[in-house]
Amino acid sequence: GNVTEIYNFSAGPAVMPKSVVKKIQAELPSYKGSGMSIMEISHRSSLYVDMQNEAESDLRQLMNVPDDYDVLFLQGGGTLQFDTIPLNLARREKTVAVVDSGHWAVRARQEADLLPGISTYAAASGEAENYTKLPYSLNLDRPCDYVHVTLNNTIEGTMYRKLPDVKGNVVVADMSSNILAQRYNVEDFGLIMAGAQKNIGPAGLTVVIVKHSLLDESQNLPSMLDYVKLSKKHSTLNTPPVFAIYAAGLVFKQLLEEGGVDAAQKRNEEKSRLLYEFLDNSKLFKSPVFADDRSTTNIPFVTGDEELDRRFIKEADEAGFKNLKGHRLVGGMRASLYNAFPLKGVRALVEFMEKFETEIKG
Ligand code: PLP
Repeated sequence: GNVTEIYNFSAGPAVMPKSVVKKIQAELPSYKGSGMSIMEISHRSSLYVDMQNEAESDLRQLMNVPDDYDVLFLQGGGTLQFDTIPLNLARREKTVAVVDSGHWAVRARQEADLLPGISTYAAASGEAENYTKLPYSLNLDRPCDYVHVTLNNTIEGTMYRKLPDVKGNVVVADMSSNILAQRYNVEDFGLIMAGAQKNIGPAGLTVVIVKHSLLDESQNLPSMLDYVKLSKKHSTLNTPPVFAIYAAGLVFKQLLEEGGVDAAQKRNEEKSRLLYEFLDNSKLFKSPVFADDRSTTNIPFVTGDEELDRRFIKEADEAGFKNLKGHRLVGGMRASLYNAFPLKGVRALVEFMEKFETEIKG
């Protein structure tokens, strides 16, 4: 067909590695010579089981996941995890301390509050600064089962490079928007969760990495919400999202070939630095985010004039820079630069922004 070159800045579902999309296309009619598409293969077949095992072992290698952590491939998105995590881990105190660093932290709190018998509190909040700066100083005087931290705030564009002091409490990490894009030490966390649709693959897969000793074998929750049962059945308690796991597995392989997470982080730092340097020197555009807390994967920016923002988004779209409209909660623009987003796309965007700026400011 007639494919025009565009750059996709979507916050999610987001850009995939082109080589992976091509590989999927090539092997879609017949997976490993079986004569069947990956979409047509039973999740009880050895073809499938081998594929899932390989995806898991590649992910373990990429993130250095210790053996005493379970890796689960689930459905329901990050949002279902906002319920599943407290159901499984908020057992003793029945209390979750949430670091309120933005919209997704608020959502995590709202969902946990819907669960009978479970309560939450904010250990700190960045709300007073409109979430442009990360809260680091936590008040954890009230006992809690764990501290929920959103490592990368997709909407506000902030990212924890180091963890706040959680005073020995278990940390649950929402890594939805920078899993595999930024190096973290898995052992710092009791649980990590991430939807696949940003740095990993198609929507429909949710990755959970949980320290096994935190789980209670006797809890007997509804099956699809019970990490113990899901783990015992190797994430195939019911039909898993076969295609999404397959595509994720290809992304893991590709990332291993490209030097793993450390190399990806370096590339993300280089890409985001280009854009931040431009923003900091621009007379028209600016980043609203406190410099030390800026995300490498989600970069909001504004002109300060909503009319001008709209014009910029429209002209950028026509020039092939897609999905630059900011989240409805913060307005302006947002460029998401996940692992699969190419450096040359950032260069092209900066050039386009320079031209736009000259048009406006002369
Ligand atoms: N947490 C973060 C940090 C997110 O960015 C998102 C979605 O963008 C979610 C949670 C919710 O994920 P899902 O849409 O998979 O439920």
